[in-house]
Formats: sequence, structure tokens, C-alpha cells
Amino acid sequence: MSHFRVNWQRKAVYCPQGKRSRLWKNSHDSYGKPIIHVEFRKSHCSACSVRSQCTRAPVNPRGLTLMIQDEYEALVNARQRQTTAEFKQQYSLRSGIEGTISQGIRGFNLRQCRYIGLRKTRLQHILTAAAINLERIYAWLEEIPLAKTRISHFQKLANRKLAIA
Ligand code: SF4
Repeated sequence: MSHFRVNWQRKAVYCPQGKRSRLWKNSHDSYGKPIIHVEFRKSHCSACSVRSQCTRAPVNPRGLTLMIQDEYEALVNARQRQTTAEFKQQYSLRSGIEGTISQGIRGFNLRQCRYIGLRKTRLQHILTAAAINLERIYAWLEEIPLAKTRISHFQKLANRKLAIA
């Protein structure tokens, strides 16, 4: 997606090969959220030398789904910000809390609320936090080693590909 250039005034998208889209259609996704459907010309995509890198569709031309302008630009800016050293430093603070959230979800069913109402839900969260603390104290006393950071299947594949290259 980052290789495509969007011109919001002209309601057009330019692909990495410099071709202009032929269709720009305002639509909605299944949740009713406004989106824009974009499509390129079949004649351009059929004859394109990098087609296999661009689309897996056997015959149809490349299509794109865009968010509306404000959301799209906010996302692009956020992705840009994520590449900065400042962001990485800020985000590193989350590494501890991500592990705690994961433990709460996997070990203590944190995603499921057992009660109705905010007060009871808050009580459940406090009890869950206390249970996590107890389990951690037990693990510390028993010298149970910390679990290694999980690597997603996709990341494993990417690492393997890098190692082969
Ligand atoms: S397949 Fe179509 S959209 Fe993709 S780069 Fe080629 S011409 Fe552009």
C-alpha cells in the first residue's frame, strides 16, 4: 500500500508503475464504516511486468480499499511516526505491560467479564491483578524462569527466509 500514491483532489491513486486508477467509489464496509473502493484498468494490469508482486488475482486488475482521507492520513502519519527513534523509545515502555496483559488473558481469562455492571467488573479486574501478583510471587519463590517472548508464525517464516537469503 505504501508504494501507491493517493491524490485526494483528483480522486485517483497512482500505482508503483505510474498507472492511474480507473475507479473511485465511495462505499461502506460490513460495519457501516465509510471506505473507498479503487480499481485499476484491466488493460494496464494484464500487461504489467510486476503484476505477480502486486496482485494474486489471476485475471482481475488490482483493487484497493482505502479509508476516508482523514483516517488514511492519520494512519500514514502514525506509521511514519513508528519508524522514529523517539517512538521506539516510548514504545519500549510497553514491553512489560504487554506481558502482563498477555498473562491476564491467557492465564486468567481477562477478556471474559463474569459480572454485569462497571463496579463488579472493576472488582473482577482487581481480583485478577491480585491473582497475577500471587502467581508471580510463587514463580519467583520457586525460581521458575520467565517465559521467552513468543514469535508469531509469520515472523518465524520471515526469519527463516532471511536466514536462507
Ligand atoms: S498490476 Fe496494475 S496496479 Fe499493480 S503495478 Fe501493475 S499496473 Fe500497477
